[in-house]
Amino acid sequence: MPASRLLPSDEAVDLIGLVRDLATRELAPLVARAEREEQFPREVFRVLGRAGLLGLPYPEEYGGGGLAYEVYLQVLEEIGAVWASVGVGTSVHALSCFGLVTAGTEEQRQRWLPDMLGGELLGAYCLSEPHAGSDPAAMTTRARLDGDEYVITGAKAWTTHGGHADYYKVMARTGDGRNDISCFLVPADTDGLVADPPEQKMGLTGSATATMRFDGVRIPVERRLGAEGQGLKIALAGLDAGRLGIAAVATGLAQGALDHAVAYAQSRETFGERIIDHQGLSFVLADMEAAVQSARATMLHAARLKDQGLPYGREASVAKLVATDNAMRVTTDAVQVLGGYGYTRDFPVERYMREAKVMQIFEGTNQIQRLVIGRSLDRGDSGRLHRST
Ligand SMILES: Cc1cc2nc3c(=O)[nH]c(=O)nc-3n(C[C@H](O)[C@H](O)[C@H](O)COP(=O)(O)OP(=O)(O)OC[C@H]3O[C@@H](n4cnc5c(N)ncnc54)[C@H](O)[C@@H]3O)c2cc1C
Repeated sequence: MPASRLLPSDEAVDLIGLVRDLATRELAPLVARAEREEQFPREVFRVLGRAGLLGLPYPEEYGGGGLAYEVYLQVLEEIGAVWASVGVGTSVHALSCFGLVTAGTEEQRQRWLPDMLGGELLGAYCLSEPHAGSDPAAMTTRARLDGDEYVITGAKAWTTHGGHADYYKVMARTGDGRNDISCFLVPADTDGLVADPPEQKMGLTGSATATMRFDGVRIPVERRLGAEGQGLKIALAGLDAGRLGIAAVATGLAQGALDHAVAYAQSRETFGERIIDHQGLSFVLADMEAAVQSARATMLHAARLKDQGLPYGREASVAKLVATDNAMRVTTDAVQVLGGYGYTRDFPVERYMREAKVMQIFEGTNQIQRLVIGRSLDRGDSGRLHRST
């Protein structure tokens, strides 16, 4: 299905500018407190939904924004530059809609997508389990068919928006073969579905992460997306797109850290000069800029392949790897640029550094991205085919 149209570039630039303003005016004043107090900002997602920002890359006919992925990612980058938890949440929400858009029937799409894409409902994505993260096919959560209902039993770990979402996109085993996994949309208020207390994380503390427990959760057959046994395929295809979302948030995070570091380096003086005038320090900033630019370039390259309907899975893994590793390095260097002050909570760069770490872990750790890239090289897939884009 054609999910996007290319915006004229000035229209895209206007949209990205509007989101930058919205992030600066409405999100920035709330970030420090929400992150410190570990408060999930549900209301912020309503604001983004009302602004049409929660369904941007999906078709307009179902209430989405119909945007090219390339533009959507730059919007996400602007949000991530100000508030990583909200950027990640926006990306996870998009991931929670992916299965319905790509594998749902027309009736299912008409019924549920408008509220999901219009921001009325917030979604979550349940693939990982306590003993099945990098290897999701090892999952044990089971969906057993009973008449015209499935009965889901098991636990889904690490659910972003766990306990706050309005619905959960859940992958569960429907057979005994390793890949006999199906995909379901489970409303949050279904009997037997409960959230554990949220994880106590080192960063991204405004984003709630919880294990969701399914204790004989009954849902009608019509809430299965795609055929039985298609669930892992749907989940992994969604992750290709989702990884680009994480690359975008990580790029924004790195850009935000760099902006703080440059501003600080222009105002702080040592040995009678601004620290940015010391070549040794300005070279650190230059390397940070190069890292941000290369992250952005790999992310946009993959997005353009996706927008043209070309294979982009390997490039999405490259983008996720480069953007998140670079974000870790850039945010660590930002702390260095601020010296002792960088190590305090008086400045946001230490938070950026804590937030960057998780970007290397979720939606496939960076070891798993290397695995995907390595396998693609072994298959003989050539990046050269895509060099003209
Ligand atoms: C804040 C947060 C939010 C998350 N949100 C979600 C969510 O919304 N939905 C969801 O489904 N999941 C979510 N996750 C889970 C996340 O995707 C997993 O944590 C991740 O996939 C890694 O799985 P694991 O933690 O079980 O690590 P493991 O799979 O146990 O891996 C442990 C280590 O071994 C390495 N490793 C594993 N296999 C290989 C291999 N073959 N080769 C080389 N190295 C390997 C890994 O890279 C890692 O370093 C979230 C996690 C966090 C921390």
